[in-house]
Amino acid sequence: MQNHSSTDAPVAASSPMEPARSAASPANSTHAVHAGEHRFRSHNSLTVPVVQTAVYTFETTADLVNYTEDRLFWSEPEREEYGRYGNPTVRALEAKLAELEGAQDAIAVSSGMAAVTATLLLLLQPGQHFILTDNCYHSTLEFSRGFLQRYGIACTLAPFGDYAAIEAAIRPETRLIFSESPTNPFMRCLDFPRLVAIARRHDLLTVVDSTFATPYNLRPLHLGVDLVIHSLTKYLSGHNDVMAGAVAGRHDLTTPLRQMQGLFGNLVAPQTAYLILRGIKTLALRVERQNASGLAVARFLEQHPKVRRVWYPFLASHPDYAIAQATLRGAGGVVSFEIDGDSERAHRFIDALQIPTIGPSLGGVESMVSPLAVMGYASVAPEDRLALGIRDELVRLCLGIEETSDLIADLAQALDAI
Ligand SMILES: *Cc1c(COP(=O)(O)O)cnc(C)c1O
Repeated sequence: MQNHSSTDAPVAASSPMEPARSAASPANSTHAVHAGEHRFRSHNSLTVPVVQTAVYTFETTADLVNYTEDRLFWSEPEREEYGRYGNPTVRALEAKLAELEGAQDAIAVSSGMAAVTATLLLLLQPGQHFILTDNCYHSTLEFSRGFLQRYGIACTLAPFGDYAAIEAAIRPETRLIFSESPTNPFMRCLDFPRLVAIARRHDLLTVVDSTFATPYNLRPLHLGVDLVIHSLTKYLSGHNDVMAGAVAGRHDLTTPLRQMQGLFGNLVAPQTAYLILRGIKTLALRVERQNASGLAVARFLEQHPKVRRVWYPFLASHPDYAIAQATLRGAGGVVSFEIDGDSERAHRFIDALQIPTIGPSLGGVESMVSPLAVMGYASVAPEDRLALGIRDELVRLCLGIEETSDLIADLAQALDAI
């Protein structure tokens, strides 16, 4: 990564403190703490300073001329000029994200959806077509099949895991394949080598929303994907208190995205960037706990007589168990399951829970639970909802970092109550 705010080199992701790792191996706790940050900072501050400014000044006109030449001839000048084009606190976040994903660069934007929409708007032109795998984030589907049509951009929804259908959907005007892994809520996992092989055969780009994996569990760029997207609102910030998103990848794709951001202005505020930087420091510890709780909770629920079915990639019953075992360090903190009964019984179960609160998000320190048919999918017609596999008794449990045994005890008492 380029160094913008200090003359010292950033702490390299592959510092001697770390054991050798294979190319696809995920980021670790040393990365989470130090990656992308400079060892020494202005005012000798240990933490990354929050540079709360919209404007950067020039001492002399000669400095301004130098800067302008830098901007014309180099894509990344050594200093900032105006807040919409860059901020040192945000740059530190971007540098950390790039190191964590093993990317040449990362761009932080105002939300996960801002990352999805900016990427699709950048890469697609009128008359072009792309393929989206199903069981994806609902707003991504809405944008792809609704909004983009206005600009003459066509989208085919392909069934997740059906690689023959993905390849069959490719047309001469197809430009990219967009997918997620693991997916929401059924935690489907991509067979990355298969998807990347199809894309390369047809000269297509691959974009993967890796929000549910985090760079602690998986680094898709090392598996051949061209761009990785995150909602930083979830695991990466980790505290359910800020919204942001990011796109990471090669310079030839991220540089035009950065230029587009200067036009669109979908920015992360410096204070928000600081909170996310702070959140990422504990990413490895949080996700490790969420991985452990996710697996323990999934096993507990799977053997419970009042639970009909559980979706968790590290259960042998999951359709993508083998892929998950081969690619993921852990399967994360989201467990989806159906209560054996109707929506009324599922709602009684949710209301009996003492630890998770009812809410739409995931990945933070607090456990959250949602009956998906009435949260996220409430605007979808019941028959369309069923076609997506979202039954009224489907519950999505998003584990925080509470004690695993407390979470299981809570689930047990709520199941006993129904
Ligand atoms: C939450 C989420 C998004 C959208 O992120 P926001 O920060 O809410 O805009 C996109 N993709 C996935 C997989 C998500 O979970």
